[in-house]
Amino acid sequence: MYIAADDTDSSTWMCTTFLATELVRALPDLDLIGLPRLVRLNPAVPWKTRGNGAICIRVGEGAGHPRWMGRMDGRDLFCYARSKSEPSASEVLDRCVPVMERWSQTDDADPGLVVTPRPPSPELYRRAVSRIIDKEEALAALREVGALTYEINSGRGLIGAASAAAWRPMDRTYEVLTYRRRERWGLPREVSERDIAQLDQRFPSTFNNYEHIACRPAIVPHTTCPVLYGVRGDSPLQLIAAQASIGSEEVDRWMMFITNQGTDDHIIADWTDLAPNSSYDVEGEVLAPPRTIPGGHVIVALGTSAGPLDGAAYEPSKGFRDIVRELRPGDRVRVMGELRESPRTLNIEKLEVKALAPSAVKVSNPRCPQCGRRMRSAGRGAGYRCRECGTKAPSAVFRPEDRRLVPGWYEPPVCARRHISKPLKRMGIQSTIVV
Ligand code: ATP
Repeated sequence: MYIAADDTDSSTWMCTTFLATELVRALPDLDLIGLPRLVRLNPAVPWKTRGNGAICIRVGEGAGHPRWMGRMDGRDLFCYARSKSEPSASEVLDRCVPVMERWSQTDDADPGLVVTPRPPSPELYRRAVSRIIDKEEALAALREVGALTYEINSGRGLIGAASAAAWRPMDRTYEVLTYRRRERWGLPREVSERDIAQLDQRFPSTFNNYEHIACRPAIVPHTTCPVLYGVRGDSPLQLIAAQASIGSEEVDRWMMFITNQGTDDHIIADWTDLAPNSSYDVEGEVLAPPRTIPGGHVIVALGTSAGPLDGAAYEPSKGFRDIVRELRPGDRVRVMGELRESPRTLNIEKLEVKALAPSAVKVSNPRCPQCGRRMRSAGRGAGYRCRECGTKAPSAVFRPEDRRLVPGWYEPPVCARRHISKPLKRMGIQSTIVV
């Protein structure tokens, strides 16, 4: 039996993943089948609170070897590969509704809860991770599998809940999430920065841990939510060890999630036109020197098969903007990112410099071939002219530009990455570093 939920939290209260732990807690007589799922949906959805995450757990009567995946209320949590029998959907719903009501921020959220014996079509997930869909589409997919639902307010959370239940993990990663004791919610978090800074080296299958240039941990939230920290990676076993290596205030509970974070599932590679509020993989040629606009954002005009398109490296992407500033007209690039509606820019999440165009920098005005003096500009586009003898020259003296940029992949620093964006580390690619 699949139980999925979304849109329970506000920006200052709760976290949908915490609700997952409370659902597990409310069903002690049922076994977890597979790991709880944390499913990120289209990051371009305008009404998301934070990372557009929804959760789904599967419960039943476990068969096969138990697998350790968490700890809560002083006891270890396990999950099983298969289920021998299914509980009743209506009973499960009746038991989950009070949990949802207890923890939802009903002033500011539109919670949705789904209980279903069969997952909805994977097509629902594929669309919800990359497009904007309406509630009716999610409801139709839920009707097909005989799902039961419960909603509060507009119940928009049913979109995320249904889509999380529809996810079939293909490319997948894991996140071990730790939670704080209730009385510490809202207080500054005590987590050893030194331990976090060592994660990349000690547990190489983990990613997005620490911003080494700015010396900032990326795994500790800054909100008042119950999460203490979350470590992401490709190996659940390494994540358990990684979590044990981090000194912190008391961990109230922890749970391992299987996720679509770091997979690029949201990127549409095979597109015919570019509609806003989705994310794309686009190839193009740089049309003009990049420009910095008020706010420190860097814009680069690209010629693409869909016509001219502005790529943007926004201020929070910090040093990544310097890479974009190094692009020159004629360079060939591949960019991935979200197409915003207004201003219509593609917010660059990753950049591949495929080929550099020859580029030259002006060294000086030319010397007059007759009298040897420096010539002066004769006006815009009119070349150069010697003031003494009137001799003309077509252009200044140029030398080939010594480009700092080299072909290869570039990505923003850890703190500026989206949950769902695939880090270069997961693509087996070293970020191309410019010295
Ligand atoms: P958190 O990450 O903290 O759990 P959030 O960023 O997930 O919060 P929500 O409060 O859950 O934010 O809001 C996202 C809302 O958008 C939910 O109601 C969800 O059902 C809905 N939603 C998710 N994906 C789509 C989509 N592709 N199209 C339309 N609505 C969507």
